Amino acid sequence: MEFKQGDWVRIEKDGTVYEGKVMPSMERYIAIKMKSGYNAGFSTDKVRITLMESNGETANGGKNGGKEHKNGDAELSKPGKKLPKVAILSTGGTIASKIDYRTGAVTSQFTADDILAAIPELKEIADFKGRVISSILSENMDSESWQNLARAVVEEIEAGADGVIVTHGTDTMMYTAAALSFMIETPVPIVLVGSQRSADRPSSDNAMNAICAACVSISDIAEVSVVMHGTTSDDFCEIHRGTKVRKMHTSCRNAFKSVNSLPIGVVDYNKREIKTFIDYTRRGVSSLKFKPGMEPKCALVKFTPGADPAILDCYLENGYRGLILEGTGLGHVSTKWIPFIQKATDAKIPVIVTSQCLNGRICDRVYDTGRDMLKAGAIEGEDTLPETALVKMMWVLGQTNEFDKAIEMLREDISGEITECTLK
Ligand code: GLU
Repeated sequence: MEFKQGDWVRIEKDGTVYEGKVMPSMERYIAIKMKSGYNAGFSTDKVRITLMESNGETANGGKNGGKEHKNGDAELSKPGKKLPKVAILSTGGTIASKIDYRTGAVTSQFTADDILAAIPELKEIADFKGRVISSILSENMDSESWQNLARAVVEEIEAGADGVIVTHGTDTMMYTAAALSFMIETPVPIVLVGSQRSADRPSSDNAMNAICAACVSISDIAEVSVVMHGTTSDDFCEIHRGTKVRKMHTSCRNAFKSVNSLPIGVVDYNKREIKTFIDYTRRGVSSLKFKPGMEPKCALVKFTPGADPAILDCYLENGYRGLILEGTGLGHVSTKWIPFIQKATDAKIPVIVTSQCLNGRICDRVYDTGRDMLKAGAIEGEDTLPETALVKMMWVLGQTNEFDKAIEMLREDISGEITECTLK
C-alpha cells in the first residue's frame, strides 16, 4: 500500500509499535514524525504499516481515530457551542516552515490553514479564520510589510474578529510588534507568535506557542503582545507587551524577554490559564483606530569606541529624517559626535538616544558628554528599547511633518514604550 505525506500511520517493527505522520520519504523507505516530536525512519520491507488516518479521513471510521486528540472537530460541531472568532494571519517564519528535503534548507511553506490543520487543539479554543499575508522570513520585512499587515489586522477586527493572531518569523518579531502597537489602537487582543524550531524538528515549540497565543487571543488583554515560551520546558508561555520585548537568544525556545518591564503575564500551557502581573488595557476599552503612516528613512546607529561621526553625515546626505543612537551606558557617544548631533537637529532631524545596555533608563544629565548631547538637541529615550525607539521614530515622522510636534510625540509614552518607573 502507498502512503502519502501527512498520512497518520502505525508501524510495527520487532514487536515495537511506532505511530506518526508520514514525512517525505524515499522509495522502499518511510519516515514518520512521532507525537514526541522525534522522527523515525524504516525500510518498508522490514515493517508492518497500517494506515490510521488519511488526510483527515480516518481509516477505522471514527473521528480522530488513531490519534489522541482530546476534543476534536466533533466537539466543535456540537449545537449551541459558540466559540470566539479569531483571525489567524500568517506572514512566514519558522512557525510556518518545514525542511525542504530537496535542498535541506528551512523555508516558509505553511499557510495559516496548514497551521490550523497541524495543531487540531487550536480548534477547541476558537473558531479560526486563516489568511495568508505573506510567506517570507522576517528579515525580509520592511515598513511597507508592517503597514500591509496592520491593514489586514484592522480589516479582521472590523469584520468582527474577537482576537487576531499573527504568525511571524522570530528574528524581527519585536519590530513588527512595536509597529502594530503604534499603528493600531485595538479593542481586542492582537497576538504575535512564532517558533524557534520548525514543526518537523524534535522539540519544536510551534504547537505550544500557537496554543498559548490562541488563549491570549480570546482573553481580555486588548493589546499588541508577543507570546512565546517562558522557559526551555513546555510549561508556560510569557505574554510580552509589543513595545517592551526583545529576542535575546539565537536559538533557545525562551529567547524572548520583556525588557524594563515584567511580562504582562503568563499562560499555563497545561491548564490553559492566564495569570497577569502588570496593568494592561482591557478588551473593549479602546475603540479601533488605525494610523498607518510610517517614514522609512530613519536609522538606528550603534556607537562604538573610536567610531567616526562622519557616519551620521552619510545619513543626512542620503535624506534620512530621524536618527536613533544606541549609546553606551546611561546614553553616551564620544565628544566628537556632538557637533554632528547638532548638525542633525539644526536640519530638523530628530535624534533620540537609547542605550546598548538595554536594561535601565537613559540619563544624559550626569556626565559632561551627556549634558553636551542634550544641548545639541538629543532626546533621552528614557527606558525605551533601541528597536522600539526606531519604530516609534518611523511612526511619529509618518504622522507629522512638524519638527516641534514630532519632538513632543517622541518624548511622550504612546504605547507603553516608556514606563514611569524602570524595573531594577
Ligand atoms: N530568520 C527567520 C525569520 O525570522 C527564521 C527565524 C524564526 O522564525 O525563528 O523569519
